[in-house]
Amino acid sequence: MPAKILVSACLLGQPVRYDGKGKLLSHAALTRLQEEGRVVAFCPELAGGMSVPRPPAEIEAGLTGEDVLLGRARVLELTGGDVTSAFVAGAQKALAVTRESHCCHALLIDGSPSCGSISIYDGAFAGRRHAGSGVTAALLRQNGITVFAGHEIDRLMAELEVYL
Ligand code: SF4
Repeated sequence: MPAKILVSACLLGQPVRYDGKGKLLSHAALTRLQEEGRVVAFCPELAGGMSVPRPPAEIEAGLTGEDVLLGRARVLELTGGDVTSAFVAGAQKALAVTRESHCCHALLIDGSPSCGSISIYDGAFAGRRHAGSGVTAALLRQNGITVFAGHEIDRLMAELEVYL
């Protein structure tokens, strides 16, 4: 059976981001994966109970998704709300979906406090990023899922050739 890939719903153009928009990744390889029925679209923040639109949120104090999972960092909204539990719940649901769907790979949008896998915003809501993963990307990696950022799709496809 061809390997399936968990993909950030917003990368598929679904309007699930905090601002009510998507962020479509137009790429022939992604289209091919969709046509082959190998894409599992998922938005951890909606799965965790967040609504659209919602205030932007960042992991506090230059910390990372791993810190959130260890209980030593919170995810805070620009408006001050603590949405840590929703982000952790969304990550856990993402992991459950990868297991149910037999996904070994994920393609997630970078920068997000959930889906970021290379860099995330630093908690100051000033547009600055630092190296690190969001909560979902961190939990998936901790459980053996190989996570790629959207712009790394060519690397993902090269790795998937092994599974074709
Ligand atoms: S949680 Fe992930 S899939 Fe959902 S809007 Fe944010 S980046 Fe997109």
